[in-house]
Amino acid sequence: SQRYYIVGNWKMNGMRAALSEARAIDRAAQRLPKVEVALAPPVTLIAAMRESLNGIGVGAQNCHHAEKGAHTGDLAASMLREGGADFVIVGHSERRADHNETNEMVKAKAEAAQGVDMGVILCVGESEAERDSGEAEEIVARQLAASLPDNAQRLSVAYEPIWAIGTGRVPQTGDVAKMHRRLREVLVEKYGDEEGAEVRILYGGSVKGENAAELLAVPEVGGALVGGASLTADGFVPIVVAAS
Ligand code: 13P
Repeated sequence: SQRYYIVGNWKMNGMRAALSEARAIDRAAQRLPKVEVALAPPVTLIAAMRESLNGIGVGAQNCHHAEKGAHTGDLAASMLREGGADFVIVGHSERRADHNETNEMVKAKAEAAQGVDMGVILCVGESEAERDSGEAEEIVARQLAASLPDNAQRLSVAYEPIWAIGTGRVPQTGDVAKMHRRLREVLVEKYGDEEGAEVRILYGGSVKGENAAELLAVPEVGGALVGGASLTADGFVPIVVAAS
């Protein structure tokens, strides 16, 4: 089976001083080749990471769906790629909330990234009210189906319950298993048995060294998307070790 994919999303954190943490993560990852490791720093650090790291992937946290044009402040996937990113996170709940990104926009962003041969990590997840409604699996399945790009090339999905992000709260492993099984059905329906089975489904939301092994052991969990704990080597390396 595939290697676990462990990705750090630095969000709006990290100045140049943090490159020493990235280098320490990179050194540790080189000793753990059974795990695929990547970081998505702020755009300002992508080129520096690309130049100084050898063992891990470097990616962006968003892209615009258009190839170029009058979109002040935005970045096209091709620009991010030229700047050193080899994948893009799309549809993170913080972008859906802060920038009103819709499923349609997320799909277009994913396809733009694939169009310049970049990897894509497409994020989905329910709010706390949606979890409490008892309908979380169906709600997230619909969100995923509407956000998926037309092909599965270099695609991963990240299931991130919004109420678990940055809160220290993690769903029951049984609930993670149920959700990932449902999302696998959506992927197989869209891409067919073979390609649909190859898309890794990461779990994200308060992943730490202490809970990583338990979450990664859940069926259909193919890796982790890590926020806060990915900002330091002390926080992130134990998660990589748990995946090795
Ligand atoms: P935390 O690991 O800080 O909960 O963040 C998860 C996340 O949103 C990663 O994209």
